[in-house]
Amino acid sequence: MGHLDARTLLIAEIPVLLLVGGLILTAALLGRRDRTLGWTGASLLLMGLGFLLGVADPGSAWQQSVTRFGVLLILAHACIWTGVRAFSGKPPLWLWIAVGPLAWFAVCQWPGFVFSGVARVIAYGLPTLAYTGLALWELVSEPRGKTRLAVLPFGILLLHGLLTLVRMVVTALSGTEPGRLRFDFPMAVFEGMLFFIGLAFAILMMVGARAERRYRHAALHDALTDLANRRALFEQGGGMLRGALAQGRTVALLMCDLDRFKCINDACGHEAGDRVLAAFAGVLRSTVRQGDLCARIGGEEFVILAPGMGAESALNLAERVRAQLRQCDCQVCEPLSVSIGIVCAPQGGSDLGMLLARADRAMYRAKAAGRDCARLWIGDAGGESSAAVAGDGGGRTTQHPVDA
Ligand code: GH3
Ligand code: MG
Ligand code: MG
Repeated sequence: MGHLDARTLLIAEIPVLLLVGGLILTAALLGRRDRTLGWTGASLLLMGLGFLLGVADPGSAWQQSVTRFGVLLILAHACIWTGVRAFSGKPPLWLWIAVGPLAWFAVCQWPGFVFSGVARVIAYGLPTLAYTGLALWELVSEPRGKTRLAVLPFGILLLHGLLTLVRMVVTALSGTEPGRLRFDFPMAVFEGMLFFIGLAFAILMMVGARAERRYRHAALHDALTDLANRRALFEQGGGMLRGALAQGRTVALLMCDLDRFKCINDACGHEAGDRVLAAFAGVLRSTVRQGDLCARIGGEEFVILAPGMGAESALNLAERVRAQLRQCDCQVCEPLSVSIGIVCAPQGGSDLGMLLARADRAMYRAKAAGRDCARLWIGDAGGESSAAVAGDGGGRTTQHPVDA
């Protein structure tokens, strides 16, 4: 590669960097206003600009040219690091962004600095490696582990940078071929650009994967309570139901409907109503077992799907939900209570739609019995559901068939 001419390489890289950087920045500005994409696009543009100024102004003094080139490229590395921080919701650290380029600017003012190849390599290598290392650190320490995609390219860039630095310093210090350093330079710049494009691609994939995760979450969860929504209940719950029944296990479905919720809205305001809904979601979360599915399927209607649970345990679970709601610290102007209809598969059916309809009927039995209690669907008699009772309005628990 010793025949490569630095100027030709830089000219070839400029349109690539400006085009990719411009596209990413445009996507960031026009699309989801993603700050990570914004910093990444800016970083590639800065790099392209550094190369452009380097070749477009050959008449300018060597010192000025080197200073500008280093400032822009080091800043490009700082932008990539800041973009990775933005991915974790962290703000830019302006002082640290400025430190690298400023340090380069300062050492460039030193008489003789720009004419020393080894000094340039070290002064450029240290801040760029530091920013790359910091970006890698951010990726590795992301607690949710959603940044694994980009760890590899960042790791490779860091390793490549370290090896290049060592190779260049050793070559320069060996002193046998003082001109060698200049031959290494275009190759290092070319490799650096390739890695930068690779990084930008990895960051794009990371941002894309996160957007997909967010959209999927939004499609399957209720915005107020963050519980599963009706779609998720049918997608996820349907699979859970079929899986459990195939293994010969029973499945309990509890339909919970808050009592006189409209009065809470009317008397205490819609916001208080929302707080109650969120608090009831918390009650459900803290009461169910791991592996049970809680969903909000309507305004104040919630469903618990509990694989491996029989009727008696389901009645006990309903009691715990009612008790927890009574103790819930989100009591508003009206006392809170809930009516619960329960059905168990396979006795009550093996189809989720049918189970929901039967749990709904049992829940209306609970409403008709004075609310604040649970009813278990045990069969239809003359179009009416029969039910077992768990807890009357006073909170006691009994179990006997009614309306048979
Ligand atoms: P019942 O005891 O018979 O269940 O009476 P209820 O008042 O709970 O039932 P109803 O179906 O008459 O009223 C449900 C109310 O829930 C009506 C609606 O305004 C309210 N609601 C539905 N979604 C939301 C929501 O997201 N936030 C709030 N605050 N209220 C909601
Ligand atoms: Mg309702
Ligand atoms: Mg209600």
